[in-house]
Amino acid sequence: MDFGFGLNPSSAIELDKLDQSLYAKLCRIEPTASTCMACGSCSATCTASGYSGMSVRKLLLDLQRGRNREVEQMLSHCMLCGKCTMVCPRGINTRRVILTVSRLYENVEGSL
Ligand code: SF4
Ligand code: SF4
Repeated sequence: MDFGFGLNPSSAIELDKLDQSLYAKLCRIEPTASTCMACGSCSATCTASGYSGMSVRKLLLDLQRGRNREVEQMLSHCMLCGKCTMVCPRGINTRRVILTVSRLYENVEGSL
């Protein structure tokens, strides 16, 4: 029966099935990345977020959830201006995190 609306697909996450390999590699190289508390300060100050949706907060969450394609697309919008690094309350060098993630993607290019 058509009610004129649909239900959103479930947003439940099965942790056991996620590919967290890139996130694990990132945390080995940049251990502070794991201290992110998803406060959103980086996204609020991001030069590119207004027109591209760039967000370090989302980038780290997507990596934890194995959404590697979404991360790859987001990386291309970062201008490496470093504003996000200046406001992070956890002192995460977010600019370096982005560079590190970009290098990890270069190493797995073609396998995504
Ligand atoms: S500002 Fe720092 S702690 Fe807050 S969401 Fe961004 S990276 Fe995480
Ligand atoms: S370095 Fe990238 S993610 Fe950080 S504020 Fe600049 S454009 Fe945004």
